[in-house]
Amino acid sequence: MRIGFIGLGNMGAPMAANLAAAGHQVAGFDTAAPTPQGVTAASSAAEAVREADVVITMLPNGQILQAVAAQIIPAMRAGAVLCDCSTVDVDSARAVAVMARDAGLGALDAPVSGGTGGAQAGTLTFMVGGDAGDFATVQPLFEVMGQKAVHCGDSGAGQAAKICNNMILGVTMIATCEAFALADKLGLDRQKMFDVVSTSSGYSWSMNAYCPAPGVGPVSPADRDYAPGFASELMLKDLNLSQMAAESVGADTPMGALARQHYEDFVEREDGRGRDFSAMLPRLSQRQR
Ligand code: NAD
Repeated sequence: MRIGFIGLGNMGAPMAANLAAAGHQVAGFDTAAPTPQGVTAASSAAEAVREADVVITMLPNGQILQAVAAQIIPAMRAGAVLCDCSTVDVDSARAVAVMARDAGLGALDAPVSGGTGGAQAGTLTFMVGGDAGDFATVQPLFEVMGQKAVHCGDSGAGQAAKICNNMILGVTMIATCEAFALADKLGLDRQKMFDVVSTSSGYSWSMNAYCPAPGVGPVSPADRDYAPGFASELMLKDLNLSQMAAESVGADTPMGALARQHYEDFVEREDGRGRDFSAMLPRLSQRQR
């Protein structure tokens, strides 16, 4: 397939490189990042998408996505599919889908889970909103870049799944960290805490796969002095998106709101910026009521 790829950052670069390595013709564009091996550098976003059957965007936020969409949609071939893999607000995802369809294009919102490790290894999970036909067109590319793609429903459904998942992640990470901090103060050995909880009803991905305590459980950012991984400011971004979405539909999400407040304090007023989101553990360990 001919692919246009816009946004070659930490996630986009390995995703585009994997598509090129699988034999697809990939033209890439980024305003700052270098073009990865196997990808042809385009001189502009419009240039990257002109010949493409599928255009993939992997951009920082919904505002930038909407601006890029306005540049590339008029340049895309009729019948091509615009597939956005960024994490953005549901409203931006739906607005871009409307713009694309009005121009005779297909449109998918297809945010991912799995982080930079998953992007490099080609093991991402895609959660996808849009038409079944467009999903089928892009499915072979999801198979190259990931291990699983779930068609969640109409436009916006992929972003809805992503922000709900990450709201659970933010809340369970804080819960896991505060339980470790309490266990420490009660004199419980961290390894014993892991051994019990990881096989008891308190288990979660945050405990079992991404344990915030160094030296305990599988290797995680905690073992690299909390170098991300998944940075606290990205978790804050996602918790802001879930709270915005909750407000727009009148959903009561008290734990999501509290998690958002904790990550905002950590990133904006403490030393959380640039640290993995599991560094909530040393933050809570230091605190005393
Ligand atoms: P990043 O900042 O490394 O990459 C974004 C890229 O977009 C940058 O290289 C930037 O130069 C480029 N860009 C910005 N404006 C542009 C424009 N107008 N035209 C072309 N390129 C432009 O971010 P990332 O970590 O690759 O994340 C990308 C998206 O994936 C975000 O929405 C993020 O929330 C989501 N995401 C990230 C992770 C992760 O672990 N990093 C995991 C899941 C989802």
